[in-house]
Order: sequence, then structure tokens, then C-alpha cells
Amino acid sequence: MQLLIGEEKQEIERRDFDLLIIGAGAAGLSAAIYASRAGLSNIVIDGSVAGGLTLEAPLVENYLGFTAIPGTELAKSFVEHTRNYTTILENTRVITIKKGEKFEAETDKGKFTSRAILFATGTKHKHLGIPGEKEYFGKGVSYCSTCDGWLFKNRRVLVIGGGNSGAIAAISLKNIVSEVKIFEFMPKYMCEDAYVKQIKSMGIEYRQNTQVTEIVGDGKSVKMVKYKDRSTGKEYQENFDGIFIYVGLSPQSELAKSIGVELDQRGYIKVDRSMRTNVERVYAAGDVAGSFAQIIVAASDGAIAADSCYRDLYLK
Ligand code: FAD
Repeated sequence: MQLLIGEEKQEIERRDFDLLIIGAGAAGLSAAIYASRAGLSNIVIDGSVAGGLTLEAPLVENYLGFTAIPGTELAKSFVEHTRNYTTILENTRVITIKKGEKFEAETDKGKFTSRAILFATGTKHKHLGIPGEKEYFGKGVSYCSTCDGWLFKNRRVLVIGGGNSGAIAAISLKNIVSEVKIFEFMPKYMCEDAYVKQIKSMGIEYRQNTQVTEIVGDGKSVKMVKYKDRSTGKEYQENFDGIFIYVGLSPQSELAKSIGVELDQRGYIKVDRSMRTNVERVYAAGDVAGSFAQIIVAASDGAIAADSCYRDLYLK
């Protein structure tokens, strides 16, 4: 069967592996390199383009060995490196998994079987659930400044959520747009000190204790937001052309749950220090395993998971 993978066409020569890796972010790609070098046959399958959330990081300044590198570049180097070792199947979503003597993964490009599975499925953006959010998605509302920031060149934008991701988004948007503000729900700075300093030195307004209640537009595009000052209860409105929402992430752990993998209260996959789950020959790594959500940690988790898989399949 011929498949279009990224720019190139690639034949799927094989459908049975030692290890099936779901997710081509830092965790999955690192796992693939370690698994391949240990001699485990493997494949990485991703529902989107390879690179994961690293692709959305405007500028990564805390990955060892790189003073500052755009997330897109770092992700590209991860993908190129991994392609030296294994197949990365992009735009292929794993839809269901069955657990028997082998695992059977049904994707939109057919079935794959494996002796072991690694969930490196990461997280997805949480939504606010306020009026206008769904209606204006793609018409001014976005969850990715790296992807959509340039659409708002010389316009006014609002970042909702002032944690690290929101802060990074606002800092990167500042060079593109005419004005950027951050509205944060909590009554304090929610991002690292290094970002607070940058926000202040760049003159970005960081409004605390502020709850956005509605996104309003003219049917075609966003025009303004309505918001409440939580300390006084007073309501206001302000004009913006773009809204970037960074209010947290939720784990993509449903598939794991479907084969009996235990989740914690927040829905993250429970793992031990070897990245093993409660189900034999099933591992999890990176953000979906509730790890400190950083690229370097995801890469480390992936390496550990691959090593555990090798030990379970070949050294037991
Ligand atoms: P992800 O990168 O999320 O990859 C998971 C992959 O799994 C995705 O590609 C997804 O498509 C795929 N997937 C999910 N379900 C399925 C399925 N059913 N079938 C097939 N594929 C599936 N970290 C830093 O260290 N430094 C930074 O400066 C930094 N900046 C950031 C800025 C922003 C705006 C954001 C959002 C994050 C930032 N992070 C940063 C965090 C970092 O990006 C994540 O911690 C890291 O990418 C997690 O990697 P992962 O492999 O666990 O998951």
C-alpha cells in the first residue's frame, strides 16, 4: 500500500513489531531511537505531523545544549534523527487497541500488531467553554501562537492564561502584533520568574484576577472580549482582533484506559519509575504520564520506557 507521509510516499512493508509507539513527540521519538538501538523492531505512529507539542513552542531556551532554538527547529531535528532508525507514520490516528496475546492497533490506515505498546500521546489544549470560543475558532480564536501568530501582524491580541505557555506565547507575539495583553484568572503571576521579568521589560500588560466571560464577534471574526475583574466583580469589555487561549492541557489517555491501564485522578497514566503501567508490556512516557511537562523530561521518559520494554521482552 502506498501512503503519503509528510512530503514523501512511503511503503508500509511491515505491520508486526516488538514495540508500537503511539505519538511522535519528544517522548515517542526518543523511545524509538533507544528501542531501535537495543534491537527492538518498532514503529512510531502519529495522528498529526511528527514533532508533537514541541512544534508549538515559539522559542525553547531550556533544552540542554541549545541556548535558544525555535520549537519547530528542535522538533525537526528530533524527527530527522529518529528517521535514521525507524519508520514514523504521520497523519495516522490510532483509533482502538485490542489486547490479546499481541496488541492489535486499529488505525485509519489499517491494523498493526505488537508485543508491547508505548503511550507517548501527550496532551491536548483545554478549552474555556465560554460563549464565542467554539464559534470563532479559526476566525480569531487560536490555541497556538506559533501556528497562527503571523495572521495578526500589526493587530491587537489577547492571551488568556498567564502560565508558562501563555507567557511564552505573549512574548513571541509581541514582535509581530501591535499590542498584546495577558489576562490571568489567578491573583498572581502564574509563570516562571524569568518570564515575569521579560513580560515586564517588554511592557506587556499582565492583568491578574481577570475572568474572560465571552468572546464576541460579527459572525466573521473576533471583535472583542467581555471580562470580569474578580476582585471587584465589575464587568468590562475590550476590543481585540485575536484571542490565544492557554488555560492548560488535558492528557490523551483514553486509548490506554480502554485496555485497562490505570489513570490518576486527573486522567494521567500511572507509571512506576521505569515507565511501566499496571498492564504488562504497556508503558507510558512524557506529558501523558503526568511527568514535569518539559521536552527534556519527555525525552528522558521515552528512553527509560524503551529500556524497560527491552528488558521485559528480551531479558526476562
Ligand atoms: P507531545 O509532544 O504532546 O506529543 C504527543 C503526540 O501524540 C502528538 O504528536 C499527538 O498527535 C500524538 N497522538 C496523541 N494521540 C494519538 C493517537 N490516538 N494516535 C496517534 N497519535 C496520537 N517544554 C520545554 O521544555 N521548553 C519550552 O520552552 C516549552 N515551551 C512550550 C510552549 C508551548 C506553547 C507549549 C504548549 C508547550 C511547551 N513546552 C515546553 C512543553 C513541551 O512541548 C511538552 O512537555 C512536550 O512536547 C511533551 O512531549 P510528549 O512527547 O510527551 O507529547
